[in-house]
Amino acid sequence: MAGDQYIFSQFTEDELKQVSQIKRFFERLQCDRELAEAVNQNRVLPEQLARLKETGVLFDLSELPLGLENQQNMMLYLLAVSRDLEEELDDEVKQFAGRYPLLKLWGKYLALLYQKRFSDKKEPPASSNAKFDAWRKRRVAAVKSELGFFGTQIDHPAFAYELSEGCSMGCWFCSFAPPKLSGVFRYNAERDSVLRIVNHCIDIFGKKTAGSALPYYRTEPHDNPCYISFLRDFEKLTGEVLCTSTAVCGDVIWLRELMDYYRREDVRYHWPRLSILSPAMMDKVHDAFTPEELLDIELLVQVKDHYRPKVTGGRILEEHAGLRDKEDFSDKNSIGLVPQGSIACVSGFNINLVTRTIMLFSPCYAGSKWPFGFRVFATEKYRDAKHFPVVINNLIERCMPLSPPREKLVKFRDDIVFRSTEEGFDLATPNQLHHFKGKDKCGPLGELIGGGEYTYEELSGRMALKHKVNPIVLRTVTQQLFDDGFLDEVY
Ligand code: SF4
Repeated sequence: MAGDQYIFSQFTEDELKQVSQIKRFFERLQCDRELAEAVNQNRVLPEQLARLKETGVLFDLSELPLGLENQQNMMLYLLAVSRDLEEELDDEVKQFAGRYPLLKLWGKYLALLYQKRFSDKKEPPASSNAKFDAWRKRRVAAVKSELGFFGTQIDHPAFAYELSEGCSMGCWFCSFAPPKLSGVFRYNAERDSVLRIVNHCIDIFGKKTAGSALPYYRTEPHDNPCYISFLRDFEKLTGEVLCTSTAVCGDVIWLRELMDYYRREDVRYHWPRLSILSPAMMDKVHDAFTPEELLDIELLVQVKDHYRPKVTGGRILEEHAGLRDKEDFSDKNSIGLVPQGSIACVSGFNINLVTRTIMLFSPCYAGSKWPFGFRVFATEKYRDAKHFPVVINNLIERCMPLSPPREKLVKFRDDIVFRSTEEGFDLATPNQLHHFKGKDKCGPLGELIGGGEYTYEELSGRMALKHKVNPIVLRTVTQQLFDDGFLDEVY
């Protein structure tokens, strides 16, 4: 079943009402510190209760185990049930949950939501363009190696469309830190060029890959008044319904129009996602929409003192070496948690329709070299829709070789730290340690690539003449390192 209908079908109407109110209650707790404190102390004031009621939270708070004394058991239960591990819980926690039917109901909803979102994660579709397909496979491998667990959660859309230049919002946490809004694509006047561009992408990459896109990137959807028209046009051409995340929650008419686009008779998509930047914004949204209306809409709380850590890129860049500065991996407990590293997700082309700029990019660990959490492989301008495919094809030829180019330096990715070992070498990324053996067959290949001073041609000559390494072995090993995304491709 598409959308969230399957989840809804597992509940009665009354249960769905209750679930929507619990969701709303927890949203309010995330934004309102005084309310959270009062709930923890079991001392909610009459005016706080009245405000909860006003926003549609009608259940009796004593029906949930809310005080500080219950927090651990409640978290244990919700965590276990959302990961389908309820059976493994202690009897004490099971009995505790059994006393609160609303907690069990909320747990059931979270479990279904978690399973649905997890099963929605998919590998990027194969492209009919072999060079792009191989390039994107390398990017997917590189991202997994560099970002670890977070890298496995990324869908890798092939395109991002920016319908504005800059962003009007200036969010304090923004990892992309775009400049102020300076231009908006005149959609009505230039619609034809967009249709032609999307059609070119279908021709070059195939319909599935062309449809694997984001309709905004370093932009806010609301900044372009024709944003929803673009969604409709894009769907007509590719068959794909694109997602939306917005930080503009005050324009209720626009939000309703957006929700209408995602709610069809036969399917209800869980978009848009709303970024809540302040308690006042949360109030506005909760006053404008009933809990049931927002049951399947995620409200992502982005207030400054929220417990969820931010990716330290863009406006809040702080360098973290992750695993790369650890010399000793024998004690796993001393390694600690590595931050998420990036919020980027596209491995492909960013197309800014205002400046007519195409950027080839892919997620990476944010740092001083790539502060926005994506690595840029090339940037080009196109003149008009006719010139667009010429530029795209040039980028494919220039940036997407199927083997390491003979005339370019062979180096490891710029996030990798190389370490020689007795049997071969280790590559430390921010999140992983990769071990390579085979010094007996490959000689100092790792050291030479780690030094990054030789082109592939020079490397081949040196390895054959000086180190007597079989050229076939050299080619096979280097190709494997290339295919697995370990080699630097920012030429
Ligand atoms: S998070 Fe989104 S809306 Fe906020 S500044 Fe960044 S691009 Fe703009």
